[in-house]
Amino acid sequence: MLPKIALVGRPNVGKSTLFNRLIRKNRAITHDRPGITRDRMEGLVQSIGHPSFILIDTGGVTLDNHYSTINTIDELHGFEKDIFQQVQLAIEESQAICLIVNAREGLSPFDEHLALFLRKTGKPILLAVNKVDGIEKEDQIVAEFHILGLPMIAVSAEHGHNIRQLENELSLLLPNNENINDQSTTQPALKLAIIGRPNAGKSSIINAIIGKNKLIVSNIAGTTRDSIDIPFIFNKTQYLFVDTAGIRRRTKITDPVERFSVNASIKSATKANITLYVIDATEGITAQDKRLLDLLDTRKIPFILLINKTDLISKKQKALLSKSFKETLQFCPHIPILMVSAVTSSGLDQIIAMAEQVYLECSTRINTGVLNRAMEEVITRHQPPVVRRVRPKFFYLTQAETSPPTFVFFVNDAEKISETYVRYLERSLRKIFNLHHAPMRIRLRSSHKKRNQ
Ligand code: GDP
Repeated sequence: MLPKIALVGRPNVGKSTLFNRLIRKNRAITHDRPGITRDRMEGLVQSIGHPSFILIDTGGVTLDNHYSTINTIDELHGFEKDIFQQVQLAIEESQAICLIVNAREGLSPFDEHLALFLRKTGKPILLAVNKVDGIEKEDQIVAEFHILGLPMIAVSAEHGHNIRQLENELSLLLPNNENINDQSTTQPALKLAIIGRPNAGKSSIINAIIGKNKLIVSNIAGTTRDSIDIPFIFNKTQYLFVDTAGIRRRTKITDPVERFSVNASIKSATKANITLYVIDATEGITAQDKRLLDLLDTRKIPFILLINKTDLISKKQKALLSKSFKETLQFCPHIPILMVSAVTSSGLDQIIAMAEQVYLECSTRINTGVLNRAMEEVITRHQPPVVRRVRPKFFYLTQAETSPPTFVFFVNDAEKISETYVRYLERSLRKIFNLHHAPMRIRLRSSHKKRNQ
C-alpha cells in the first residue's frame, strides 16, 4: 500500500492545477463514497529519485471566514459539513499534508486558521506557495507566509516552476515504510512552564486559565517535589503546564524548602516549549529576576514575561512600568511583555495566543533560496563596515536549526564583522521573516570560497 498525501487549500489557490501537474497522467483512482467523497480525486505521483505516493485532491475547503475558526465538524451544517468531512477524511487517511496558498492573493485569515487546524493533526505539513511565476521577488512574495510556521516551497503550478522540488520535498515528509500504518501520532500538547518569585501569582494564573481552583491543588499531593504536569484544554486545544510541583498553594509558601531557585526555574523551563515568567507589578524586577531573565535569554529559552497583579496599579503606573520593563530588558527586546491580572482575568487570553505565536516562530524553517535573496537585500541596504581597508564579504546564508531558528552566515572572515552589524543582521531577518518574538541565533562562519548553492 502506498502512502498518501492530502492536498488542502481554499478555493482558487490552484489546487487542481497543482494536482494535475504532480500526477501527470496518473489519475488512477477515484473512489466514490456516496455523500462524502463527491469530488475527491486520487492520483499516483511517481518519479525516479523519490518513493511513489498517492496524492489526494480534497476538493475545495469552501467555508467562508465565518466558519474558519471551527474546530470540529459538529459546528457545521449541510453542504459545508460534507466538504469539511471529506477534507477531514482525506487528512485522516494521509500520512502527510500539503497546504496550498495563493501568493497573488496573499495570506488570508482563513489560511492561518487552516494551518492551525492542520497543525493540530500532528502530521507533517509542507506549505506550497502557488502562483509564484518567476524567481524575481520570490522572497518578498513568500515572506508573509512564514508566519504560518511551516516549511515552505514557492511553486507555480501553471508554469511548472519548482514542481520537481515540490515532489521531492513531499516525498521526504513521508514516514519510513514500516511506519505508514501508524496512525497513533497526534500533535503533542504545547508545554508551558510557569516560573517567577513566590507570590508573583503563578498558581493564581494557572487556576485562572484552567478554570477555578481545582487541578493545581488536587495535583500537588503531600510533599512531593516531583515534576507534576497539568493538562488542560483551552480553545479546544490541549496544553500542558509542566513541572508545577514547585508552585504551591498559598498556605504552603512559608515552607522553608520553597524558595525561588534559579536552577529549578531553568530546569522547568527546559521541560517546556514556552516559559511564562511571572512578575508582580507591585514589586517590579529584582536583581535575581534579572539574573534569571539573562540566563533564559542566553540559553535561547523561549519565554514570555507576564506582569501580573495589574489590577492593583493605575493606568499611569502601568505605562511607566511598561516603559521601565522595556528598558531593563534592552538586552532581549524581542521578549513579549504582557500585562495581566489573575484576579480580573484581564490579559489572560493573550497568554496562550502569544505562546502559540512564539512556538510557531520557533519552529519556522526558511528555504535557503529565500534566505540568500534576503541576505543580498540586507547587506546591500547597509553594507558591513570596512575593516583595514577591506570590506567583509558575505557568501551564503543557511538556516541550520529551528527552536531557536539558527542562521549561519558564511563569510570570508568572521573576525572582521562587528557585534553591531550582527545585531543589524538579526533585526533585519526578524523583520523580513516575521520572527518578532522567538529567540534567535546568528552565527558567522569563515569560509574561503563562495559555496555552490
Ligand atoms: P505563586 O506563589 O506565584 O504561586 O503566587 P500565588 O498565585 O499563590 O499568589 C500570591 C498572592 O497574590 C495570593 O494572595 C493571590 O491571591 C495574589 N494574586 C495573584 N494574582 C493576583 C492578581 O492578578 N491581582 C491581585 N490583586 N492579587 C493577585
